[in-house]
Amino acid sequence: MTDRYAVIGNPIAFSKSPLIHSSFAQATGQDLDYSKIEGPLGQFAATVDAFRAQGGRGLNITAPFKLDAFAYATEHSPAAQLAGAANAMKFDGERVLAENFDGVGLVRDVVHNLAQPLRGKRVLVLGAGGAARGALLPFLAEQPTELVIANRSLDKAQDLARIGTAQGPVRACSLQDLQGRHFDLVFNATSASLRAELPTVPVSVFAECALAYELAYGKGLTPFLRLAQGAGVPQLADGVGMLAEQAAEAFAWWRGVRPQTRAVIERLTVPLV
Ligand code: NDP
Repeated sequence: MTDRYAVIGNPIAFSKSPLIHSSFAQATGQDLDYSKIEGPLGQFAATVDAFRAQGGRGLNITAPFKLDAFAYATEHSPAAQLAGAANAMKFDGERVLAENFDGVGLVRDVVHNLAQPLRGKRVLVLGAGGAARGALLPFLAEQPTELVIANRSLDKAQDLARIGTAQGPVRACSLQDLQGRHFDLVFNATSASLRAELPTVPVSVFAECALAYELAYGKGLTPFLRLAQGAGVPQLADGVGMLAEQAAEAFAWWRGVRPQTRAVIERLTVPLV
């Protein structure tokens, strides 16, 4: 029987995951079926139970179900544990394993695809939500000189920085505190771009910046990227590579073979204009 996988979210119509995983399966010769499930709100567990009863082997999880997936799982990886959220699950009999590949996917895109090492760099992350949480430990593992987490709600940034303190030089601040500060790499992990909004970041953060990275994808030149471009940042990127890399991590976790991501990234890239 063909192994079944899916992505679950609500809404789910525009998810790129079926296209990505079908491409991976074809390229690696894996026999699997990958679909999308629009999970009714408040019925995550019942929907996943039904998928497993029909032979489901694993799921990707997107908004708003990442916390439900964490709660549903019986075992959690350190990355899922830190994030308190899962973006992938694997079913093994009664066991439900939870993972969170957003952070490693982001690091792999930045270091490998965009050739921007984080080691020895001053790194700024705007936002302290789920994506920033996922990035915290993978970023610190790369040994930046400093990692600053700046968030509109300062307390959330402080909570996150506390978690990472033992692992490396991380600290929290408000967006206003960034005035006059310079960074080598700047990441927009706020969700502002989904509403075409700009986090109130001072343009000075880009003065010595080599890469401005927008975690949202498919939006073209967001207000954040436009600000960075205007400040002369030489390299701009959005989260399409992160999306492909976290998918590749999940695929490897499920199937034991890691697919190449270049073709998928090229296919899904929306020009930053
Ligand atoms: P969350 O809802 O968990 O967190 C949102 C964050 O954005 C919070 O820190 C919030 O601040 C901040 N924020 C929202 N609006 C504004 C604003 N107008 N100005 C300043 N700060 C703002 O979202 P996620 O962490 O899940 O997602 C963040 C981004 O990452 C999204 O764009 C998402 O699409 C992207 N993403 C991309 C992935 C990929 O594969 N490329 C994977 C996962 C996410 P506050 O705490 O003050 O409310």
